[in-house]
Amino acid sequence: MNPLSYTQISMYQACPLQYKLQYVDGLKPKDKWYFSFGSTLHLCAEYFFKVRVPPPPSLNELLDFYESNWLSEGYESVEEEAKYRAYGREILAKFWQIHSADFRMPLAVEQIFYIDIEGVKLRGYIDRVDKLNSGGLSIVDYKTNQGLFTREDLEENLQLTLYQLAVEQIWQLPVGRLTLYHLRSNTPCSCQPRNELQLEAARRLVLEVAESIAQERFPAIENQYCPCDFPEHCPYYRQQYIAAKPELAQQGILPGLAATEAVEDYVSLQAQIKELKSQLEEVKQIIIDFCQTEGLNRVFGREHAVTYKLVEKAGFNEDEVRALLESSGLWNRVLSFDSAKLEQLITNDEVAQDIREKLKALKRVIATSPRLWPRRLVEEE
Ligand code: SF4
Repeated sequence: MNPLSYTQISMYQACPLQYKLQYVDGLKPKDKWYFSFGSTLHLCAEYFFKVRVPPPPSLNELLDFYESNWLSEGYESVEEEAKYRAYGREILAKFWQIHSADFRMPLAVEQIFYIDIEGVKLRGYIDRVDKLNSGGLSIVDYKTNQGLFTREDLEENLQLTLYQLAVEQIWQLPVGRLTLYHLRSNTPCSCQPRNELQLEAARRLVLEVAESIAQERFPAIENQYCPCDFPEHCPYYRQQYIAAKPELAQQGILPGLAATEAVEDYVSLQAQIKELKSQLEEVKQIIIDFCQTEGLNRVFGREHAVTYKLVEKAGFNEDEVRALLESSGLWNRVLSFDSAKLEQLITNDEVAQDIREKLKALKRVIATSPRLWPRRLVEEE
């Protein structure tokens, strides 16, 4: 199996099918301006810090480098590109001002790594590694995201966790700080390093993803970024790309016409059922209220009568039953399998980690049943 990268792992987590289309089938994603913008700024940050000896490049040298490495792919118009080009210059001018004032040689810049996690190869590039005064190491990853990072973003960021694993393996020194550097505002957002439990959870995750890929588990999982660049290969969107047979197309008939019309009927019937259910509840309550107020067990309409009765639901008190049956050794015979309780055990930190892992591994698809989720396309747009 080829080495995995953080990008591949996170794409597999978001949608295994998208991962397959891009990394197994080799489909090419579309160019996007934010990737071009981010790549250019990353290159410039690398150029600034990757000097053999101080000082770092001057502001003019940095901006010249920026201009000659500008990537134009993915911008929707000349105006949009010009706007971001100017914005990038502003960001870099500020970056230069901050970092040339207190320039320190980093330990590594754009450090490529390959590490082994129980036979699974993990690879990546770390934007910057610095040596802290404490003797530990600091990992910095540049980001061109719109918004600043919250504490939660930092603490849950898998990329930083994987980079910590790599850095500690390469340099055999502890990591003392993790940073996502928000380039747009030139703000370093830092947090404490991961503890051993968190590192171990990340290792498990890498192994789980590698195992799922090896077993060719590639279901489509819809997520907030759908549709991706390959909707014509996705079961959620593919219908829109199925070409009608020429003879049907000539008559203006779409493929899957019967199902297309059934969708509207289905949604309309669902709405009617909902309305009827609500009306049913209302009239039911009127009858119940009347019976209770008047002490009646039957109400007569013009052609029908409805009988009212309080139906008792019998059950057992668990403590009482347990007290009786445990003493006679019969308690185990009435215990039943409860999936909901098992799910609770899997997420309960008080249960030993290895037991939780084993329970999780036992989870299988034991039955499937078709379900439909209607939604309004107009709202979606
Ligand atoms: S459009 Fe389909 S394949 Fe692409 S990410 Fe969404 S669910 Fe996955």
